[in-house]
Amino acid sequence: MSLTALISHISRGSFHDGAGIRTVVYFMGCGLRCRWCHNPETFSQKPLIMHLPAKCMHCGSCVEVCPDRHVVEGDRLTLLREGCTLCGSCTEICPTGALTLCGEFMTVEQVLAMIRKDRHYYDESGGGVTLSGGECLLQDKFCAELLEQCKEEGIHTAIETALFVPPPSVESVLPFVDHVFADVKLPDGERHRQWTGQDNTLILSNLARVIASGVSVTVRIPLIPSVNDSLEDMDAFASLLSRVGASDVELLRYNYMAEGKYDAVGIPYVSFGKGTQSDRTMAALAQRLSEGAEGLTVHYR
Ligand code: SF4
Ligand code: SF4
Repeated sequence: MSLTALISHISRGSFHDGAGIRTVVYFMGCGLRCRWCHNPETFSQKPLIMHLPAKCMHCGSCVEVCPDRHVVEGDRLTLLREGCTLCGSCTEICPTGALTLCGEFMTVEQVLAMIRKDRHYYDESGGGVTLSGGECLLQDKFCAELLEQCKEEGIHTAIETALFVPPPSVESVLPFVDHVFADVKLPDGERHRQWTGQDNTLILSNLARVIASGVSVTVRIPLIPSVNDSLEDMDAFASLLSRVGASDVELLRYNYMAEGKYDAVGIPYVSFGKGTQSDRTMAALAQRLSEGAEGLTVHYR
């Protein structure tokens, strides 16, 4: 029987997750709860209903099909998630897309069929497929089979992972991966636990293992204002990255646009401000980081 995985969505034509033009497959489920995550709809390992009040035209159709879970007060519709069976009836009847079901079980063949649609673009641009999430490696068997099939068809493969998974899950995909984007959030274990829910011991040992395997690796560091974006933080990252043998790092500016997604999935949002790091700040942080670790190439965007 063909393996299935719970997929949040598949994005075609991406330029940000590896070389060339890429198809990015977003898996659901993650063992971390980074307070700044901009994909909170992928936290869950079950499908979930997304509710975007701004798209609601107050037609009342969802109330008619499921009166116990939808409450209208004035011109505001509230979705009561407790007791929702995820039957999807309200999302099917909603005419505006204000209610949608996030998460679909797909077979390897179904995902491959989507990937193959952009074969021409991969060939022209040097692109390929990137598995992301959520944490794609929580569904490691599916990932390994999908990546192996992509390799057999000559499609470049990458994964984006936070590496908070058992080591065998990482090892099972490495033979079929051309490039790994490994997220590193904070150098200090206790602060890592404070901001992500888990300490970073497993993540760092997996990172060292991946680098030692010889696969091409870019470490990605999302910079969160006043959490991990000081010059002193760069010194701590430099020391950590030297220890694990990293040679390529990408600093990512804070993404402050995720609030609407938190509303849509009913998870409280923590704001780290309405701005992001300036070009000048990014250049200074990149320089400090590269000065602190020999042989480290640092990019930022
Ligand atoms: S998914 Fe089904 S049970 Fe859940 S709110 Fe919609 S109609 Fe009701
Ligand atoms: S069906 Fe959609 S548009 Fe109509 S009231 Fe419900 S959420 Fe709003």
